Amino acid sequence: MKNEAVSVLADVELPLAVPPPHLVRPSLPEREKAALKERIKKALREKDAVLMAHYYTDGDVQDLAEETGGCVADSLEMARFGARHPARTLVVAGVRFMGETSKILNIEKRVLMPDMQATCSLDEMCPALLFSGFCDRHPDRRVVVYANTSAEVKARADWVVTSGIALPLVQHLADQGEKILWGPDRHLGTYVQHLTGADMLIWPGFCVVHNEFRAGALETLRRLHPQAAVLVHPESPQGVVAQADVVGSTTALIEAVHTLPNPEFIVATDNGIFNKMRKLAPGKILLEAPSGGDTADCESCAHCAWMGMNTLEKLAAVLESGGGEILVDKELAGRARVPIQRMLDFAATLKKG
Ligand code: SF4
Repeated sequence: MKNEAVSVLADVELPLAVPPPHLVRPSLPEREKAALKERIKKALREKDAVLMAHYYTDGDVQDLAEETGGCVADSLEMARFGARHPARTLVVAGVRFMGETSKILNIEKRVLMPDMQATCSLDEMCPALLFSGFCDRHPDRRVVVYANTSAEVKARADWVVTSGIALPLVQHLADQGEKILWGPDRHLGTYVQHLTGADMLIWPGFCVVHNEFRAGALETLRRLHPQAAVLVHPESPQGVVAQADVVGSTTALIEAVHTLPNPEFIVATDNGIFNKMRKLAPGKILLEAPSGGDTADCESCAHCAWMGMNTLEKLAAVLESGGGEILVDKELAGRARVPIQRMLDFAATLKKG
């Protein structure tokens, strides 16, 4: 770790972000599930649509995306896939900012989402007006925001980043002597600051799922499974990140299960990711990192309740009715695209280098 002296958590009052209750739904009988999948496949063909699912959605939705020639990916790759694919309608199984990002990068296409109420605590804790006013009070800082933000917040930023590119980009800015205003995830911001030594003023938002992982209980689990590699998403608290063998984006963690020789893995991210990990590395044992501890509540189950709103029933309904369309004002989309494009250009220079 480099420098811890120039990281400051912004003193702002965050709005509450309360996830919906985790409904315990009886799983659908196989015949009903198969019938729903057939309806969705038919509607995808008829509507010239492609299904893109995030790694945190339910396994059935992910499997259907792959079976129908769509993709299972992180938010940025979903948007990129949508741009490359010839379909005129993109169906985004994920949360609202993902639908918006797809629309921003594919303004001429129709973007549908199974449930428009599916949001993200990071997005909810960073309302555009509050964030913009805060940026105005710190004009000497470059504004770097994480992808988990609204179109308005992206439009206010100089740079948008994903967890995969946050480190090299902040390092690049720090090397140029830039001071940074970072939002909205406090844990990812702190992680990046420690590794880069950048001067960062950090918005104090957090992911309600990753924030629940507990360092003490993880230490105990590691002792019980000495052969396990610990894989951690950097939206997790510092004490959890500090115990990781690999810290990285969803894509990087999936890759680690596939490539590392360990027979077991302790995984600190949404357990929806296990679907993909099991397929790529069927012989490996996957354990959920402990969350919640004594304060455990329904947010401590390592599964995002908003992601869970993407059900097969809702997918069929939006495709058949044409409802659930994500709309982003063209002028706003144009402004939000600028910092996203900067990130994509920066990523391209990294690849070349
Ligand atoms: S898992 Fe966390 S970061 Fe991802 S959508 Fe849910 S609340 Fe947002």
